[in-house]
Amino acid sequence: TVKSHGKNGYEFFDPTMEAKSLERILMENELRKAIEQEHFQIYYQPKIDIVTGKLTGMEALVRWVHPELGVISPIRFIPIAEETGMIISLGEWILRQACRQNKLWHDQGFPLKVSVNLSARQIYQKDLVDMIKNVLEETGLPPEWLELEITESIFVKLEEATAILQQIRDIGIRISIDDFGTGYSSFSYIKSLPVDTIKIDASFIRDIHHNQESQAIVKAIVTIAQSLNMNVIAEGIELDDQVAALQENGCDLGQGYLFSRPLATDDFDRYLRKDLAQ
Ligand code: C2E
Ligand code: MG
Ligand code: MG
Ligand code: MG
Repeated sequence: TVKSHGKNGYEFFDPTMEAKSLERILMENELRKAIEQEHFQIYYQPKIDIVTGKLTGMEALVRWVHPELGVISPIRFIPIAEETGMIISLGEWILRQACRQNKLWHDQGFPLKVSVNLSARQIYQKDLVDMIKNVLEETGLPPEWLELEITESIFVKLEEATAILQQIRDIGIRISIDDFGTGYSSFSYIKSLPVDTIKIDASFIRDIHHNQESQAIVKAIVTIAQSLNMNVIAEGIELDDQVAALQENGCDLGQGYLFSRPLATDDFDRYLRKDLAQ
């Protein structure tokens, strides 16, 4: 085995660790370059009124388009962007792209609400509210046509998170809790959260058509949302049976491959025009 006598006096050398950290360093460098060179694309996934089948909005989902490696999933690079802090500049770029594009669609006669995911790290960036205001001003998108998706993890610091979300809502922007039911959700504090929409996590939708517990959970979430005047949306719908089970349990909004996969801008544009023609 190779021995290294580094300045911290470590005597051994684990080749797998070294390989991993090298890959990680390469990945971070690539990601930094990609941010500078804007090698990303925003895909848009339709949000559907599952009763009427009509389009109500779309979620912006980022993809890294690497010149050699092709399309890289956000599951692979968002965590790295978060850990390194690169999510701050990347997140601003994503928000600006999504707002700019949605403004274009508005001007073409498509009044849709775009939802943009925000990392916990972004919530706690100190100039977040000013950054969002600037992006809205710059792009001309009215605030009510923007929604931000956050996860329950931010509520570990409940008071701080609540105060920040309140400032965002005061601008007129909507807030949605993503992946609801998987994190720190507590029915005792949900009533005090400055939130407009609860997005039920895909794990409850996956088996809702044949699992009574998932049905009961969805029903409970819908009941609570209604009593708090919040909207509910289901994510990860792939089957007609799931749509039926959701309707039975009072959930009227949904998103999933059954309706459409996330689409590149041009494809979503075509989708919009088809939807309008229906
Ligand atoms: P998320 O916000 O919960 O987004 C939902 C994910 O489920 C998306 O994966 C979407 O493509 C996928 N999905 C939608 N419908 C279905 C379905 O019917 N079946 C299945 N199996 N999957 C479905 P994606 O695009 O790979 O994004 C993964 C996660 O990466 C997102 O989860 C979000 O946490 C994060 N992410 C994506 N874009 C952004 C972004 O712009 N900013 C930040 N901070 N995070 C992002
Ligand atoms: Mg989301
Ligand atoms: Mg989600
Ligand atoms: Mg998720």
